[in-house]
Amino acid sequence: MKQPKSDGKRVCGRLPGLLAVGLLAAGGCTRPVTLRATAYDLDVRLDPGTHELFGSAEVTLAREPATGVSAGTGTVRFALNAALDVMELTARGARIRAHVVAPLGAAPKPGADKRPPMRIHELHLEGVGPTPRLTFRYAGVLVQDVQAGEKRGQVHNLLMAAHVGGEGIYLDEGGGWYPLACDEHGDPQPLAAVFRLSAGPVEGMLLVAGGEPAPPDGTRQVWRTRYPVTGMVLVGGPHERKERTVGGVRIAVHYSRPDDPQSQAQIEKHTDLFLDAAARYLERYQPLIGPYPYEHYTIVENFFSSGFAFPGFTLLNRALLAMGPRGLSHGMLDHEMLHAWWGNTILVDPQDGNWCEALTSFGANYYGYVLDGDERGARNQRRNFCVAVSRLPPAEDLPLGTFGRSEGAGREIGYSKGAMVFYMLSEEIGPERFWAACRRLTAEYKGRFVNWAVLQAVFEQEAGRSLDAFMRQWVRATGTPEVRLEAARWRAETVSLEVQLAQDAPRTLRVPLRIVADDGTTRDEVVTLDGLRTSAVFALAQPPRTVVLDPDFRVLRRLRPEEIVPAVATTRAGRRLLVVQPPGAMSPLYQRVIEDFSGEPGQKEVLLRTADDVSAAELSAQSVLIVGDGLRSPAVQALLMRARCPLSLTAGGFRFEDQTYEAPGHAVLCTVHHPAMPGCGITVYYGNSETALGRSDLLLHYRDSAVVFETTARTAEGKTVYESRPIARRDFESPTVIEVQR
Ligand SMILES: [Zn+2]
Repeated sequence: MKQPKSDGKRVCGRLPGLLAVGLLAAGGCTRPVTLRATAYDLDVRLDPGTHELFGSAEVTLAREPATGVSAGTGTVRFALNAALDVMELTARGARIRAHVVAPLGAAPKPGADKRPPMRIHELHLEGVGPTPRLTFRYAGVLVQDVQAGEKRGQVHNLLMAAHVGGEGIYLDEGGGWYPLACDEHGDPQPLAAVFRLSAGPVEGMLLVAGGEPAPPDGTRQVWRTRYPVTGMVLVGGPHERKERTVGGVRIAVHYSRPDDPQSQAQIEKHTDLFLDAAARYLERYQPLIGPYPYEHYTIVENFFSSGFAFPGFTLLNRALLAMGPRGLSHGMLDHEMLHAWWGNTILVDPQDGNWCEALTSFGANYYGYVLDGDERGARNQRRNFCVAVSRLPPAEDLPLGTFGRSEGAGREIGYSKGAMVFYMLSEEIGPERFWAACRRLTAEYKGRFVNWAVLQAVFEQEAGRSLDAFMRQWVRATGTPEVRLEAARWRAETVSLEVQLAQDAPRTLRVPLRIVADDGTTRDEVVTLDGLRTSAVFALAQPPRTVVLDPDFRVLRRLRPEEIVPAVATTRAGRRLLVVQPPGAMSPLYQRVIEDFSGEPGQKEVLLRTADDVSAAELSAQSVLIVGDGLRSPAVQALLMRARCPLSLTAGGFRFEDQTYEAPGHAVLCTVHHPAMPGCGITVYYGNSETALGRSDLLLHYRDSAVVFETTARTAEGKTVYESRPIARRDFESPTVIEVQR
């Protein structure tokens, strides 16, 4: 039965027997108690053909106070997907006085209204004993438009929440596929619970759920959570399974096997690589952060765009598995695996900000390079974090501690600033103590909510000192320091160099400087900048030539526009964009790129010109995207010359820096700073053939200034499959350097 639309609360008509308001027990031995769900025993049967779910949920409640009265009265609420109808509701250890069902208003976040609508089931209970239990039997059709949430350039399809279909099954914590205890706004109760889930077999599919697989119950698969969690997740797909055991942990990958032999051989190779990587990550990280919290780790191929981490498994986009080694860059599988500790076992306290993305981004996206021994990669990642934060308008530079809260900071603060803050913390207290604190967190907080204050206390225990000032400055305060290198003077009388530094607000920063001599030799120093400005004096034998500000990005600071490495994001950032197209017919693959740069309709003012009619004045006034033979315009050539763009056309292709690329599969994506418009960018995308443009759908994922691609095409199952790999990548850096006055 479908519920009619209604804004007000209404009493569920399916349960007439439960509606009679019973007489309250005699006064004196009845009083209000608080009820919270502490355990869920779920059972589901799924039919992908009809999208149906048939479920039962037994929920154990704990009452507060636990003793002192023989029976109490209380109210408890559950959120359930509006597509699911409750067929039967019974109670043990309590009586249901009323069951009120109300639709949950649309969430205020943009896009959230496209997630499945929910209803709140409010139960008024009486005669509540010490451990009341409620049993729901419910059923309905769960189907979502998978394509609606797929956007080029975005890693996650966040609209998916509850879907049962032939392509796959996805039932997440927010999908309302079982009744989840909540408050009157539909927000989950701030208490973790234990779960048991059993599911009937689905023909041709492998199912995976959060927690540990338990011995099957007949033909039904069973999972149990090892520690309290905030919700249960169940996924599945038409998959093969491959597994191995490493150090007592069963690592597996669930993937679909394509029909054509070449794709099949490739996916077999890639899934082996992913298993190898998972094994390597376990070996790397357990000594640092403590034992992996589960007995299983499964990589599950997903049917929509995602990199999601759940207790005991990771749900990865099919495209990522297809990418092979490049799908294993730091920040991908290692990031999801670290969430097994941070986020899925040590829980983010919903009353405070989300710290787990910061710690996970530090641990995987950054520290992965350190563990590789790749100091250059680590340094570039610190730079990328600073760049990401510096791209934010100052109004969005909110405190890290507010990420994850309503009206709080956005993703770049939560991930990039957060990672940089944990990097600076590890420098502040030393890596030994930093990782000891992470092990302490694992040992003491599994299945418990952790907030920033708890984290601070754990790090302080290992550091042996207060971190109050550090946390206030980097977690609770708004804004990112702007550091200026104001002057560098040679003092012949004292044979020393004097450097003046300033910042926009008083904070304590340890600012690295690199002093460069005439012969190119360097000397690194660190200056403590405590107030608004300071000057530091260094005794040197010879007058140096230049001083460079923080060349290796060891302190989080807001970079000047020229310091921000130009990339696709630079050109896409402004409100206006000039597009220069080829004069004649244009490939639809270029058209796709123009759409990606233009964003949603109405988002920005887009001016379309061809190589024949674009003017120098237009080129000087805003960010510019040049595709294909748009590059042949003399005005465009002049602009690129001014911008010192290292890209030019040749008779058979293009030249990038000192290399010529003339094979049909070669393409280039290159962004430089606009010479006339600070903060704006000029991006060129050019391919030698249609094949070279085959993966133009991926351009928005690149953060490099320039990438040269080599793309091949083949036919598989009647479709053209393009495979593209970067063969050259560059970042155009412009550090802050000043000449020494001497
Ligand atoms: Zn994450």
